[in-house]
Amino acid sequence: SIQSIKNSKLFRQESYVNGKWISAANGRTVPVYDPATREEIGTIPELTKSEVSAAIDSAKEAFPEWSKMIPKERGALLRNWFNLINDNKEDLAQIMTAECGKPLVESRGEIVYGNSFIEWFAEEAKRQYGDVIPTTAKGKRYLVIKQPVGVSALITPWNFPNAMITRKAAPALAAGCTVVIKPATETPFSALALAELAEQAGIPKGVLNVVTSSHDLTAEIGKELATNPNVRKLSFTGSTRVGKILMSQCSSTIKKVSLELGGNAPFIVFDDADVDAAVKGAIASKYRNAGQTCVCANRFLVQAGVYEEFSEKFKKAISELKVGNGNQEGVQIGPLINDNASKKVGSMIQDAKDKGAKVLYGGNNLKLNFWQPTLLGDVSLDMLVSKEEIFGPVAPLYKFETEEEAIKIANNTDVGLAGYFYSRDIGRVFRVAEALEYGMIGVNEGLISNEVAPFGGVKESGLGREGSRYGIDEYSVMKYICLGGV
Ligand code: ADP
Repeated sequence: SIQSIKNSKLFRQESYVNGKWISAANGRTVPVYDPATREEIGTIPELTKSEVSAAIDSAKEAFPEWSKMIPKERGALLRNWFNLINDNKEDLAQIMTAECGKPLVESRGEIVYGNSFIEWFAEEAKRQYGDVIPTTAKGKRYLVIKQPVGVSALITPWNFPNAMITRKAAPALAAGCTVVIKPATETPFSALALAELAEQAGIPKGVLNVVTSSHDLTAEIGKELATNPNVRKLSFTGSTRVGKILMSQCSSTIKKVSLELGGNAPFIVFDDADVDAAVKGAIASKYRNAGQTCVCANRFLVQAGVYEEFSEKFKKAISELKVGNGNQEGVQIGPLINDNASKKVGSMIQDAKDKGAKVLYGGNNLKLNFWQPTLLGDVSLDMLVSKEEIFGPVAPLYKFETEEEAIKIANNTDVGLAGYFYSRDIGRVFRVAEALEYGMIGVNEGLISNEVAPFGGVKESGLGREGSRYGIDEYSVMKYICLGGV
């Protein structure tokens, strides 16, 4: 309950800048609501542009010492942070469910998942190897070292209030960068709880800052983070629309940029698939977080020979999903994040119906922003559900005949984050995996993300990779040293 969250030591209602918990200088606050009940959970400071600029200054001030620290020591502090998060899993999960609505089992899972990035990069801190390049001239030697890029601005969304922060902050801190985090206005308390634990872990003042504000000031603050010359790196997860704005703003100071943007994931079921496994993968991929993840299956392409069987079995599995308040045990689908999200899902279902789709299951708004998990049949490519990221618990089914046709439909989009397909033909597995224009492919698997593998997209889904041994490169720059007179 909200009362028990408020009693948690981790529930902080102030921004965290330069090792201090601060209110807005003008005293203004912004309420945060539980999307399941619309109850107010608490408030956060509405920091203004100049206060965000001051946070950037403190990150800059903390940078020299943090970046010169022995990597192993930075790793040890990250490990402390990891241990504290692990000790406080339940409080963190409760705070997350209250502010973003996802079922508690998923929040608990996200804390473990998010924390795996801190553990991983605590270890990777020690492995930022350089190169020694064989010389081309007598008397010269060539070295390459990696150094932290500098102050990094991290702008994160509400759908993974913990993991989208740790997946950026952990590699940044491991590389030797200091950070200013701007969490989504909907889900600031998960971010502030992470800051509280970072402080307890002994991460020095100014190294990790969390700035909160309102929807009204988001664009102004985003612009400050993207244009302030003291910020050398911007990492953003969110919509392609906002990603484009930030990328163009970053051009003014040629910042290094990482973007994790929208997807339009195909989920292809071929005639030779294990249909039961495909149904299981489809449920996991589509209905996690009520369909509000950037890697959620968006379009289900099913080959004619298994279309009926898949559709029947998928429908049965969908009908067993339990909708409700995320803090009740057993609930699998919580509310959508806000009224806009709910309106968008409603209008997409209506558009599909108007253009001839059949509602095979669900289709209704239950109360507030709770939607029935929905299955649409006879979907065509002119419908909104085919072109846009749905971000809700709605699965559209398409029938196709040939492998070539499926690949063509799957690739017919401007974005390319995750793609999934089910097949047991080894030749097809390689052909299709190579042909799909996506950054990540799940073959006979609906859940693909973990800390050791590179997460990221191609085309308008973004730039750069998070997690894995590549993730730390996003926060590092190479320096080539040519040593003469040897
Ligand atoms: P979503 O549709 O998932 O909310 P957004 O891209 O709108 O995706 O939001 C993701 C993050 O980007 C949030 O932290 C939000 O506050 C922030 N944001 C939204 N608009 C802007 C903007 N114009 N400039 C900078 N950040 C923004």
